[in-house]
Amino acid sequence: MATATSDIKQSKDVKQPKPLPAPNSDFYQLAETLNPEELALVKQVRAFMESKVAPIINKYWTDDAFPFELLPAFKELNIGGLGYEGYGCRGGSPKLFGFVAMEMARIDPSFTTFWGVHTGLAMGSIYLDGSEEQKQKWLPPMARLEKVGCFGLTEPLVGSGTGGGLTTTAKREGDTWILNGEKRWIGNATWCDVSIIWARDVEDNQVRGFIVENKNTPGFSVDKIEHKIALKVVQNGHITMKDCRVPDANRLSGGQGSFRDTARVLRMTRYFVGWEATGCQMGAYENALAYAQSRLQFGKPIGSFQMIQDLIARMLANITACQCMLLRLADLDDEGKMQDYHASLSKAFCTAKMRETVAWARELFGGNGIVVDYNVARFFADSEALYSYEGTFQMQNLIVGKAVTGLSAFV
Ligand SMILES: Cc1cc2nc3c(=O)[nH]c(=O)nc-3n(C[C@H](O)[C@H](O)[C@H](O)COP(=O)(O)OP(=O)(O)OC[C@H]3O[C@@H](n4cnc5c(N)ncnc54)[C@H](O)[C@@H]3O)c2cc1C
Repeated sequence: MATATSDIKQSKDVKQPKPLPAPNSDFYQLAETLNPEELALVKQVRAFMESKVAPIINKYWTDDAFPFELLPAFKELNIGGLGYEGYGCRGGSPKLFGFVAMEMARIDPSFTTFWGVHTGLAMGSIYLDGSEEQKQKWLPPMARLEKVGCFGLTEPLVGSGTGGGLTTTAKREGDTWILNGEKRWIGNATWCDVSIIWARDVEDNQVRGFIVENKNTPGFSVDKIEHKIALKVVQNGHITMKDCRVPDANRLSGGQGSFRDTARVLRMTRYFVGWEATGCQMGAYENALAYAQSRLQFGKPIGSFQMIQDLIARMLANITACQCMLLRLADLDDEGKMQDYHASLSKAFCTAKMRETVAWARELFGGNGIVVDYNVARFFADSEALYSYEGTFQMQNLIVGKAVTGLSAFV
């Protein structure tokens, strides 16, 4: 009969399996470049996304529904006006704004898009192109998320060509503007309070932005776009405007009164989408790696097979390349040097790499990769929308091509 001492000795001799490393998509330790205050916010956002969003998002995604139940806790994060100075906004560097976007998309690109449309596109239009009075009036309640915004640029017949071809018209009558036309794909539009509408002034053909209080503007109606296969949580609307009267006080009047104002906003939000696309890859990668460590085939974890490790290394390389590119772009932005073509290059590159990464992640899951419950299918599907919105891959590359060749290939 063995003694207690020999039992202990024997159990020490049995080789315990080495614990496997936890999935971590910050391979080059980029978080170390954040200051303590920034890092604290990023961790707070991670905690919110992991504890509140992750447990319920697959259900909302499947149901094509927006999780309004998350808004009270989300407001407490106080990131409604992240990146803007003054006007009740939180402030913060472009790098912090990017890290927060990446952190959110690591769990869910739809909820990130809701925030990006509100904070980036809608608030950004007012912050960059509004007058002092307009900023004072609109930004504080939007920063508190008491009023949620959307951004209406794309039309049913005009997507990539919005710079020169908007068909929505704005006609001035004294102190009032009359808006007529349609907008398509507008995120948050079915339920938000403030719509930034871009329209062509019939007088001079210039594109101008208007702040429309959509809930109480007669002639403004929104139909939800049904049957989407990506970003299903985001409520995208088809807006119709019939003789909508908007006071001149609501015409964005702090910019140049042309499409350059719109482009300034898009530069900032394309920067945002680069980070968002990187977060989307991180979520897919971390899910895939955890699966590779636990899924057994041929009596072994599939993560121990060479060809699976090849997929994992490729995914991580894509993510790390995107992160490093964006970190440098954040500095350029901070120094006021980021141009449209810089943002376009990263939007195109990061969304293209994202498409590869999420496809490899889905592949690694085998059949389970097409079931929403395993998360990776959601990242896979959502990536398609990120690839196309805020200007397609081709449009970004045309912007870059024009900058580096000095020759415009726009038709
Ligand atoms: C989920 C989702 C959310 C969105 N949210 C918003 C929003 O909140 N607000 C908003 O205003 N818009 C929004 N959009 C619209 C989005 O920005 C447009 O879908 C995008 O700009 C492309 O326009 P399009 O879909 O009309 O495609 P098109 O312009 O019709 O392009 C079709 C294809 O042709 C290619 N193409 C076009 N012209 C050229 C050319 N000259 N050379 C080479 N290729 C070309 C394009 O790259 C694309 O592959 C959203 C879209 C989606 C899918």
